[in-house]
Amino acid sequence: MAKLGSSELPLRVAVVGAGPAGFYAAELLLRNDIECEVDLFEALPCPYGLVRHGVAPDHPKMRTVINRFDKTGDEENFSYFGNTRLGTDISVDTLREYYDAILISTGSQKPRRLGIPGEELEGSYSAEQFINWYNAHPALELKDFDLSCETAVVVGNGNVALDIARILAHTPEELAKTDMATPIIEKLAASNIKTVYIAGRRGPVQASFTSPEIREFDQLENTAFHINADAMALDAEDQEELEFKDHNHARKFMPVFEGYDGQPSDAKHHIKFRFLRSPVSIEGDGKVEQITLQTNRLSGPAGSRKAKSIGETETISCGLVFSCIGYRGRSIEGIPFDEQWGGIPNVEGRVTVDGKVHTGLYTSGWIKRGPSGVIGTNKVDSKETILKIVEDVETLNVAPNRSSDALREQLVSEGKRPIDFADWKKIDDAEVARAKGDKPREKFLTVEEMLAVLD
Ligand SMILES: Cc1cc2nc3c(=O)[nH]c(=O)nc-3n(C[C@H](O)[C@H](O)[C@H](O)COP(=O)(O)OP(=O)(O)OC[C@H]3O[C@@H](n4cnc5c(N)ncnc54)[C@H](O)[C@@H]3O)c2cc1C
Repeated sequence: MAKLGSSELPLRVAVVGAGPAGFYAAELLLRNDIECEVDLFEALPCPYGLVRHGVAPDHPKMRTVINRFDKTGDEENFSYFGNTRLGTDISVDTLREYYDAILISTGSQKPRRLGIPGEELEGSYSAEQFINWYNAHPALELKDFDLSCETAVVVGNGNVALDIARILAHTPEELAKTDMATPIIEKLAASNIKTVYIAGRRGPVQASFTSPEIREFDQLENTAFHINADAMALDAEDQEELEFKDHNHARKFMPVFEGYDGQPSDAKHHIKFRFLRSPVSIEGDGKVEQITLQTNRLSGPAGSRKAKSIGETETISCGLVFSCIGYRGRSIEGIPFDEQWGGIPNVEGRVTVDGKVHTGLYTSGWIKRGPSGVIGTNKVDSKETILKIVEDVETLNVAPNRSSDALREQLVSEGKRPIDFADWKKIDDAEVARAKGDKPREKFLTVEEMLAVLD
């Protein structure tokens, strides 16, 4: 029998999840010394994961990586199964029949909860719900937001919290140049929100913001910035922490924060940082009316400073609360999953069960390492996994059925509607064609609208 990975018997890999990790993995497999056929499975008709549905619409440069992913989409030994969710449209057992190796790169889309009373009130949402809405995720759980209140509170101190605050403070004219869908721009234009609080349990030095995102706030029109004075009084440990190599962002954005003192009080929008504050409860009669934050002090050595309550609280009247405290992965039937940290157990990309390697099963991206790093981090991460697949090639079980066309036919006969990359490009072209003015595209809002382009 021919060797797996030779031109007579190419290695067939199913990559599941068409975000950055999935696309980088596909690209690296196709560029490898061994002969590969790669099929990329994606739950939605549209590929690119968080590059399309996470990255803020006012960050168009971040989306240019799509051009690179599209080159992979055009490769000969590559095929795309959009609109095909592993676990519902196709099972792991079926993938095993058709592929010698399976690589899971389904990301971490499940929001972490605050776990405080009142979190379930109307008006209290996860960052993911709001971001999916403003980025026109076509399989939305929550299709509308009431933006009639004057104050929103974002809980979390990472760039995602900044994205939300920025989107709420932008003028409709600024948004009109982005790929944000027109009905969403109209909704934001009618918003009454004037003040956005960004609350974090520790201080500015410990925040995970990056400095370009903080500096970018300067470009918001008619917006004033404020910071609680107690947070700016750094102690010796904070000063020591600022010197750490990995705190170069904090070193750069601290002077920006210092400039927030004395900003105009008559600005149209206000962004107010409340550091050293943790939410303890959200209150309201059926919907959010206020949030109570406890005041913290930091203790412990530089590098591992912990927030501890000083026994005081403050209450902010608000109509919206967005929790922005991280993500977890979602489990998929037939794939090992660690409920505790919310990802797939693995050693350098080889999936493990009770510490033992699960032959032919691999992982990359956020579902492998947790929700950290930028788009490019997933390239390094996928490379580690692909090296393992190449190392393992001789030990893999050869799948009995080696035709992607046969799988596509099987799915169609089961009533599924897998779409290929040419289909996706038709949807993509249709979005671009219906855009008006300076908009690069007018996104479809639902899966049905996307599929209707193909009918
Ligand atoms: C709000 C937000 C903003 C961000 N902004 C930036 C930024 O400006 N710059 C930057 O560099 N990084 C940014 N990031 C980080 C970056 O988006 C991530 O590093 C990256 O997207 C992670 O890649 P991934 O492929 O692991 O996951 P994802 O991008 O989430 O892709 C996973 C894919 O798997 C699919 N999928 C899930 N389940 C299944 C299933 N069962 N079957 C088939 N398919 C499935 C999903 O639909 C998705 O397309 C941002 C992240 C977030 C959350």
